[in-house]
Amino acid sequence: MSGPRPVVISGPSGAGKSTLLKKLLKDYKGVFGFSISHTTRDPRPGEVDGKDYHFTNREAMQEDIDKGEFIETDEFSGNLYGTSKSAVQDVRAKGLICILDVDIAGVRHIKETNLDPIYISIQPPSIEVLEERLRGRATETEEKIQSRLEEARTDMEECNEPGLFDIVIVNDDLDEAYEKLQSVLKEEITKVQEVIKS
Ligand code: ADP
Ligand code: 5GP
Repeated sequence: MSGPRPVVISGPSGAGKSTLLKKLLKDYKGVFGFSISHTTRDPRPGEVDGKDYHFTNREAMQEDIDKGEFIETDEFSGNLYGTSKSAVQDVRAKGLICILDVDIAGVRHIKETNLDPIYISIQPPSIEVLEERLRGRATETEEKIQSRLEEARTDMEECNEPGLFDIVIVNDDLDEAYEKLQSVLKEEITKVQEVIKS
């Protein structure tokens, strides 16, 4: 499919991906579209079905996986997550930059497809700060915090693997991280804005 290159955002749970993406989607209306993943986890307060995720159950999701409807799926912290083909197609058909928020296993799966996205890793300044953020968000049980911290350690190690990401952005100061994110995406943003103007 032609059009702007999609963008894959990855990084430990609690690093600030959603915070940065919400800002980006708000500041660049009509430029970006979010690929709405499926998940078997429960919605957090404020999360909307069909906007933040397609909240589903394992049986229904497995049926759709078996039908070949997913580009990639992964088990994360006891739940199944996945990007459906239609989630990406819906955004790309509108000529928007498609943003996918996936874990590091998802990044590796997407590398085997022909999607050709820009790969961005959002990292916390340290595991201690990440723990504070996860606790501050107050959305997870103690068990889930521990399992997410465990996944985070692997992610923080693997993110610097040569060739895996185009850029690793450390989200210490939010404004600085957002500046970096915008600058990496500038070329694709300009392309879409030029099409809008013409
Ligand atoms: P993710 O989507 O990567 O799991 P979130 O965007 O939900 O992470 O962020 C986790 C928590 O950290 C949220 O409570 C958010 O408000 C906070 N947060 C995000 N970025 C920063 C930052 N740069 N400094 C301090 N707190 C932050
Ligand atoms: P959360 O439960 O905090 O929303 O997400 C947990 C993890 O699942 C995050 O690392 C997030 O990037 C990842 N994730 C969300 N959607 C998908 C998806 O469709 N595929 C994969 N592989 N990971 C996903």
